[in-house]
Amino acid sequence: MTTLIVLRDGTDEERLGEVVDRLRDAGVPCRSHSATVLSSPSPAARVGAVLAGLPQVAQVSALSGDYPLAARQSAAEGTRVRLGRTLIGGPDVVVIAGPCAVESRDQLLTTAAAVRDAGAQALRAGVFKPRTSPYSFQGLGADGLKLAAEARRETGLPVVSEVLDVRDVELMAGSVDMLQIGARNVQNYPLLREVGASGLPVLLKRGAGTTIDETLMAAEYLLDAGNHQVVLCERGIRSFETGYRFSLDLTAVTVFRERTHLPVIVDPSHAAGRRSRVIPLALAAAAAGADGVIVEVHCDPETARCDAEQALHVADLPALMAGLRPAAAAAGRQLAATPAGASG
Ligand code: PEP
Ligand code: MN
Repeated sequence: MTTLIVLRDGTDEERLGEVVDRLRDAGVPCRSHSATVLSSPSPAARVGAVLAGLPQVAQVSALSGDYPLAARQSAAEGTRVRLGRTLIGGPDVVVIAGPCAVESRDQLLTTAAAVRDAGAQALRAGVFKPRTSPYSFQGLGADGLKLAAEARRETGLPVVSEVLDVRDVELMAGSVDMLQIGARNVQNYPLLREVGASGLPVLLKRGAGTTIDETLMAAEYLLDAGNHQVVLCERGIRSFETGYRFSLDLTAVTVFRERTHLPVIVDPSHAAGRRSRVIPLALAAAAAGADGVIVEVHCDPETARCDAEQALHVADLPALMAGLRPAAAAAGRQLAATPAGASG
């Protein structure tokens, strides 16, 4: 159990000290996370009773897990994460699209041009690939990073790419705009701390077997390292069902919305496992209130070296975008406009 204590905006250090002293004098342990956010392992009723009457205390509430900085109440207005010229978490639903893996210059540049022309806001481009088998294609690594940087220059699209290893964070920081932490690494705490310290925007995927609160505590590692530019991503969880790859948990989108101020996007591709299912799931995600989608797309999916069956063809992108428009509207949002300078 964690109790969150939120102080009023503009509370000075002396008034913060008063709160800490009051709790300490009552034998209630507490930790301060920022100028206005504290937490305590003591029950909310006890903390509330001890702090009663202090005007700088805006709110005392019980959290479902230990994630004070990620908690919705810590930033009631919601966090907006900048990715290139786009804001994730604002009124617009954003689209990130690109190949699962960078395979060649031709493949990446052709796919990236189609992603830009379709009006998406960012390019996904995996260069370090986490593969279940050690014999599968592992990505082009540093060479792929150079191609990703070239695609970024050519299209003007910001690039999202997965980091697997603490040793690659610095290398990647020079070539990509957002570091993805994949489903397998959501609880790799040294990696979370290192990526948190990088200051780069982060796309943190929920694990296939990670609860909503465990995901929020993983995000807390990034926030605790001083990095507040964090976007969560629901990509499907492991269930008893064998008819598809993962169960896309859209309920989680609504629960994340209740529990955190961080934006939430959805990856329909890895849940679907097959391209025919990707657009319906993407539309469902937008209608459920996701801040965006990240979709795998390839200029020649039949030859893709990674996740071929689930890759949309670049020719499918206009249908995806056309479907997302009314789906976003159903959730009271709109599809983001193509960022200025990235059209052409
Ligand atoms: C990916 O984005 O290509 C990927 C490996 O996704 P996940 O971490 O969700 O499996
Ligand atoms: Mn993939």
